[in-house]
Parts: sequence; C-alpha cells; structure tokens
Amino acid sequence: MKAKCLECEGEIKLPDDVVEGEIVSCPDCGADFEVIKVSSGKVELRAAEMVGEDWGE
Ligand SMILES: [Zn+2]
Repeated sequence: MKAKCLECEGEIKLPDDVVEGEIVSCPDCGADFEVIKVSSGKVELRAAEMVGEDWGE
C-alpha cells in the first residue's frame, strides 16, 4: 500500500495491514504522518503531532 507525502509528495510505503492511528514517516523528507483512514487500498494521512516520543523502531 502506498500514500503520498503531504510535505514533499514523495511516496510513502505502508504495510498492507496498516491500521488507522498508525504513525508513518516519509523516507524522503522525514515528516511523520498519522493514518486517519484506510479504505480499499487508499490511505488518508495527516501531519502527526510531534510529541517527542519514540514511536518505535
Ligand atoms: Zn516527504
């Protein structure tokens, strides 16, 4: 599954089992986005709040 970065329009690859609420990072510009909607192969993102926490590996 893929999504387009809202910052640089780069391609963000997502796992096929991505779920709403998941945080993803753009490999090109490093921006973090939250998955807000997943429906039939399409994913909607919004800029994630930077909270200074470690979101995991
Ligand atoms: Zn980007």
